[in-house]
Amino acid sequence: MNVAAIRCKNCGDLIYSRARHDFCWCSCGTVAIDGGNSGGNSDAISVTGERKYIDGPFEFKIDTSSRGLYQDWNCETDKYGRILGEDTPRRRKAIAKRKLLE
Ligand SMILES: [Zn+2]
Repeated sequence: MNVAAIRCKNCGDLIYSRARHDFCWCSCGTVAIDGGNSGGNSDAISVTGERKYIDGPFEFKIDTSSRGLYQDWNCETDKYGRILGEDTPRRRKAIAKRKLLE
């Protein structure tokens, strides 16, 4: 199925919401998405974070169903929802900065 996804320009994570109340942050905490997946319809999602750090939203194809996504969220399996960005200096810096703030 298709989901509406965004990419964080700081850490490179691709994130999407698995269920209506799945509020998903990227690894560096710059951007978040929620509102469910609704087959890739970006009108249904809500995005948190500064526009300049966000790529998307765009449609992204994943190999499970809406029910599979819901269960993944509900059972905290967390196989879906976030695809980690490539390990780049920018990503490491963004994640290190987040850890300092916590
Ligand atoms: Zn990020």
